[in-house]
Amino acid sequence: MTSLSKICLHWTAGSNKPCNADLKAYHYCVDKYGRIYPGNHKPEDNLNCYDGNYAAHCGGGNTGCIGLSVCGMAGFSLSKKQTKYPLTQKQVEALCCLAGYLCVNYGILVDENKVFTHYEFDRKKKKPEGKIDISYLHFAPNLSLKSVGNYLRQKINWYKNRIKAGKYKFIKKGNYYEFISIG
Ligand SMILES: [Zn+2]
Repeated sequence: MTSLSKICLHWTAGSNKPCNADLKAYHYCVDKYGRIYPGNHKPEDNLNCYDGNYAAHCGGGNTGCIGLSVCGMAGFSLSKKQTKYPLTQKQVEALCCLAGYLCVNYGILVDENKVFTHYEFDRKKKKPEGKIDISYLHFAPNLSLKSVGNYLRQKINWYKNRIKAGKYKFIKKGNYYEFISIG
């Protein structure tokens, strides 16, 4: 029996809020305000990726893998580094908090084999597809392409420990969720 043992971190390459295709592709989408929208598929749908009912977020690596995505980065390229929808720091913090929460819930270790960016996953393939999410942050432009994954994992680990200690609550607010700090 497979378990949910991995998390892949994406950006949508769209606007700063989720569209229907995003909600279909990812288990959770995070908008620029840090609001968390559950997708059409539950993480558990990715235990079996042979029935057509799963979130297809990470080609070649969907089984047992939870897909989280920050909304934005439309039109971005590594050469120009421009987009109408750069990721906000608040958004990335919410992504890391969510990932930390899921690591606690599903017993996932925060290391590069279990929690990785789509860019990192793609680079390990025999034939990389050229995925670049998440390899650039406009609010931290000095981070190199290859260091963004570690930067995110450090944050995720920090949140994981805070969540274990009961310092954050995941609450529903209408059609989205938010984390609130409780001390
Ligand atoms: Zn991706």
